[in-house]
Amino acid sequence: MSVHKTVEILEALVGFDTTSRNSNLELIAWVEDYLDRLGIAHERVLDATGTKANLWSTIGPDTAPGYILSGHTDVVPVDDQDWSHDPFSLIERDGRLYGRGSCDMKGFLASCLAAIPEMKARPLKRPIHLSFSYDEEVGCVGVRGLIAQLKRAPVKPIACFVGEPTEMNVVIGHKSKLSLRATVRGRTCHSSLAPMGVNAVEYAAKLIVKIREISERLAKKGAKDELYDVPFTTGHTGVVKGGTALNIVPDRCDFEFEFRSIAADNVDTLADEVKAYARDVLEPDMKAVAPEAGFAFEVKSGFPGLEVEPQADVTRLAKQFAGNEHHCKVAFGTEAGLFDEAGIPSVVVGPGSIDQAHKADEFVAVAELEKCGQFIDQLVAHCRS
Ligand SMILES: [Zn+2]
Repeated sequence: MSVHKTVEILEALVGFDTTSRNSNLELIAWVEDYLDRLGIAHERVLDATGTKANLWSTIGPDTAPGYILSGHTDVVPVDDQDWSHDPFSLIERDGRLYGRGSCDMKGFLASCLAAIPEMKARPLKRPIHLSFSYDEEVGCVGVRGLIAQLKRAPVKPIACFVGEPTEMNVVIGHKSKLSLRATVRGRTCHSSLAPMGVNAVEYAAKLIVKIREISERLAKKGAKDELYDVPFTTGHTGVVKGGTALNIVPDRCDFEFEFRSIAADNVDTLADEVKAYARDVLEPDMKAVAPEAGFAFEVKSGFPGLEVEPQADVTRLAKQFAGNEHHCKVAFGTEAGLFDEAGIPSVVVGPGSIDQAHKADEFVAVAELEKCGQFIDQLVAHCRS
């Protein structure tokens, strides 16, 4: 497959500002028009507001089980990043293609779309499905609607390849994540009367220390998975907001924390441990002063982890298509965990490096797109045989 067509399509895709907060419908309409011209059927799976959509498309017989090529259409914001050119206009320099989303992950989408004429050229015995989602960058939100629909379909796909940037290495695992928002209610009073109030900031601090202690326990004594750069489950608090003035005992504090776990641990169990400490240890003291005081927790986002056997069929096939016997696990989350949880074996393998994703002057190397094109060519050949 010629990379020329891929670059041309990538240029069009990067031109749409599909930052997660925006609608992605203009990009979806562009892809639909491209598919129409090739005579390929497609289906939109809209979000509740009707302003964002997943796109599902099948090349080949829809009565046989086949393979999914999955990617997200949204990109992270360019706000406060120092770009040396317009991020939504693709620029080629020294074998690199610069633009927001070029690497994460419109380069993969473009590779899939550019391969459709080849997929169509001779009959496929097994179909290839394209799954293009929205709102991946804000917690793998969009693809869930599409997967719910897939679960009801009469024919279940054999496997899914998620094309997040891995430099075409086969990724068989990533951590699961759960992030929560805690709201601490106290009772306000003048700071000179501090013991008569309940200081929400101080009780938040006590719970944040508990989260830190759990994280240190996991690091020192927890289960290990050496395929990860950070080979154990982690936790941390990232945002704290509370208080208005030093002479007022604050009656409210909000903070956000997360756990990212290897397969041996469970993010829900860890969150339960935090909640139990708040309920059983901290709240009795708070309520003794002010019955209305206490903690409330709300899940912000999360996704299941990915854990595929090195010997699994999907791993073996991905290595064969990529011409790469190596496998690894990565720190970042992907939609692969959700597909896998739905019973569709999945691995992550895509062009570009995560080192270039989410940054100013994001780029994908042309050579990476060439490797991705070869991967898809091998998949197409496999689907014919
Ligand atoms: Zn991504």
